[in-house]
Amino acid sequence: MESNAKLTQEIVDSLFSFSELGFQEFETQRYLTKILEDNGFTVETNISGLPSSWWATWGSGSPVIALGSDVDGIPKSSQLPGVAYREPMIEGAPGHGEGHNSGQAVNITAALAVKEIMEREGMPGTIVLWPGIAEEVLGSKAWFARDGRFNGIDAVLFSHVSSNMRVGWGQTTGTGLVSVEYTFDGVAAHGAGDPWRGRSALDAVELTNIGWNFRREHLHPLGRSHYVIVDGGDQPNVVPSKATVWYFVREITAEKIRSNFATLQRIAEGAAMMTDTTVNRRIVGAAYPRHFNRPIAEAMDKNIQAVGLPEWTEDDQTYARALQKLMEADEITGLATELPGIATPLEEPQSGGSDDIGDVSWNVPTITLRFPSNVDNLQFHHWSSSMAMATPIAHKGATAGAKVMAATMLDLLQQPELVNDAWRYFKEEQSAGEVYESFVGPNDEPPIEKNAAIMDEYRDRLRELYYDPERYDTYLEQLGINYPQLVKPTQP
Ligand SMILES: [Zn+2]
Repeated sequence: MESNAKLTQEIVDSLFSFSELGFQEFETQRYLTKILEDNGFTVETNISGLPSSWWATWGSGSPVIALGSDVDGIPKSSQLPGVAYREPMIEGAPGHGEGHNSGQAVNITAALAVKEIMEREGMPGTIVLWPGIAEEVLGSKAWFARDGRFNGIDAVLFSHVSSNMRVGWGQTTGTGLVSVEYTFDGVAAHGAGDPWRGRSALDAVELTNIGWNFRREHLHPLGRSHYVIVDGGDQPNVVPSKATVWYFVREITAEKIRSNFATLQRIAEGAAMMTDTTVNRRIVGAAYPRHFNRPIAEAMDKNIQAVGLPEWTEDDQTYARALQKLMEADEITGLATELPGIATPLEEPQSGGSDDIGDVSWNVPTITLRFPSNVDNLQFHHWSSSMAMATPIAHKGATAGAKVMAATMLDLLQQPELVNDAWRYFKEEQSAGEVYESFVGPNDEPPIEKNAAIMDEYRDRLRELYYDPERYDTYLEQLGINYPQLVKPTQP
């Protein structure tokens, strides 16, 4: 893995520079699939009708180990890396404000190392690599699961950026969700000339939001929900004949998600009734509550303890503390120097975000490796979380994660009983009394048009900033940044 560290850094920096939003990860697809094809993997694209997706396979026979990680960025989080002040690379452009530029580096470098060992030792087994497309809008994994992509796979090892290194089992913190758009159809009219002839779709959107916001008081506090108005009409003097509101409805259990979703549905139908408009709904994303596999998590935890955290330099620590100060973090802790240990099921459920890896976790024994490529106490889905993501912190954290990933792949390849234990846990403990029923129906299609307009707007300017590993050792070097650059250089 140490000898692959250069490739790790190049993948981390390249994906950072592509800065692609969900459903539009085409440069990322081109770049990663080329690496995999050059290394003997067979690559398919356009999985489940997602044009930016891909599925790479190498080897034959069992076990079949599938490594996944997300690749999409966050709107408006463009930020120069390696500096400790706000400086967008391109004002308003997307960026990696969660750090999804690092996980595929973990998976790919681990897979290439393990493949080399398998070839040398003549070990049977199949390695699959796949991306979480549009994870930030929960837009792919439930579709992959629906379409049977995880059939025949023995274990899924997923990786996600974090500020420490950890794996867990059982139900995790956080929620599952339904992501749904309601589009209302009304009648246009001149807003001043004859407004009585109009039926406003925007009124219906607003009444839906008012209804839901009143209902909020009577929802359980572990639930979360939020919305944006995707289309509120064209101009004030035209009564909006079309309007769309986009909701995330989150809860701790699938049953509660379904129940809240049914409430929202009735409110939207009520709003249509009040305004004499009609309503159509479209499922645009889904995430099941996550449940991770105990035997694989325990095997991985041993590898985490063996690998340990990266050796941070004083520069790394200075930089991390500067970012925490910038973000007025409650605690200025710097980078983690102690492992937190395996995460076990919570005594009480805890609310929070979602990840569509949940859907995978109900189809095949799955774990998520959280690896230490980012700084604690910053703000996720915000430019601050991208600042460290093309620096030595991200590179070293990904290499540490790759070591753990590779070692766990070798455990699965060499210990058939681990695969058997994983499936016994999956069937007898996790799935006892639970039936997975996806929130995505057989005819729901992923919303692949999303983010296309934003990427069209920024793609040319982003392309000028793509990392060129032929000319520069690192992306920081290409950008002329003297890491850790704590204060903004004054103009000469
Ligand atoms: Zn994420």
